[in-house]
Amino acid sequence: MKAVCWHDKHDVRVETVPDPTILNPRDAIIKITSTAICGSDLHLYEGNIPTMESGDILGHEFMGEVVEVGREVKNLKKGDRVVVPFTIACGGCFFCKKDLWSLCDNSNPNTWMAEKFYGHSPSAIYGYSHLLGGYAGGQAQYARVPYADVGPIKIPDGLEDDKVLFLTDIFPTGYMAAENADIEPGDTVAVWGCGPVGQFAIKSAYMLGAERVIAIDRFPERLLMAQEQGNAEVINYEEIDPGEALKEMTGGRGPDRCIDAVGLEAHGTDAMAVYDEIKQGVKLETGRPTALRQAIVACRKGGTVSIPGVYGGFADKIPLGAIVNKALTLRSGQTHVQKYLQPLLERIQQEEIDPSFVISHRLNIEDAPKGYEIFRNKKDNCTKVVLKP
Ligand SMILES: [Zn+2]
Ligand SMILES: [Zn+2]
Repeated sequence: MKAVCWHDKHDVRVETVPDPTILNPRDAIIKITSTAICGSDLHLYEGNIPTMESGDILGHEFMGEVVEVGREVKNLKKGDRVVVPFTIACGGCFFCKKDLWSLCDNSNPNTWMAEKFYGHSPSAIYGYSHLLGGYAGGQAQYARVPYADVGPIKIPDGLEDDKVLFLTDIFPTGYMAAENADIEPGDTVAVWGCGPVGQFAIKSAYMLGAERVIAIDRFPERLLMAQEQGNAEVINYEEIDPGEALKEMTGGRGPDRCIDAVGLEAHGTDAMAVYDEIKQGVKLETGRPTALRQAIVACRKGGTVSIPGVYGGFADKIPLGAIVNKALTLRSGQTHVQKYLQPLLERIQQEEIDPSFVISHRLNIEDAPKGYEIFRNKKDNCTKVVLKP
């Protein structure tokens, strides 16, 4: 089959690799009909996530048709259309039973690697380094789906791929970000980053009762999308200081809830951003937390900072003083996708939201390297690339 393979920084290739096979009775094999490149794949593309190996198959946002199931998978059969959550989880451990699927204790065979960095291992993720399991990803024609009896959700006929594909990750991720922000009716929510996760965080914030959403980015087309699709007020941080602007827009109090949908490769215009570039360049820091710092400083006293943005390792100069002295709450986590599949599918079916609004490019899988390149460089107003295998 064809698959998108990672080789090195800025080096992904479409290659012919062996088809996946059932390895475990709870596996299913999916023939992929749609798969997407995620903002978090760009961290791999930039070589900023450790423990990738040459030849690893990328991709954690995919859906398709079941072509084979292991003998213990009773809920799926050949021909079912399914969306696959990016977090691989067993469904039976202490954490899965608490609905904390991205913390599954059983899906990562390489826990020792994650334990070195994090103390404990989170769940595995498709196509996202050996530290997170080393599973082959879904930017391919087929994928092996472990724990297929508890992970994938069946999609009713009549809902096209584009509408449901983002249940794999970015819609639940934006939604959980808003949920983690503890939004109360009447709140003002500020969202850093108007990429796809930011866009879904904006929409979800309104679903959860926000009165105003203010979005921060530097790309005019993304800010426009936040305005037009998300009904957000916007700040271009290259034109005005976001901290000052947020203060002014909230009568000096600051936004009640702040969401960092940027993560470890934030850009900035201040001296600290230069410091981060240098430290990350010489590997003394793994992330550039400009957005997170701004969120913490901008947040109103007693507010919440929610972090859906990806951070892999260590970041410097986090304003702990502001967290403590303003009594902030910080919440984060990889998304517990399995928990959100059914309720968010229902919102799509009820036409509360059509997630396909973020798609800017549809490419054949052969063109994946080009897809990575334009997405990375935000060329051609690229917000989201969907690949057709
Ligand atoms: Zn993703
Ligand atoms: Zn589990």
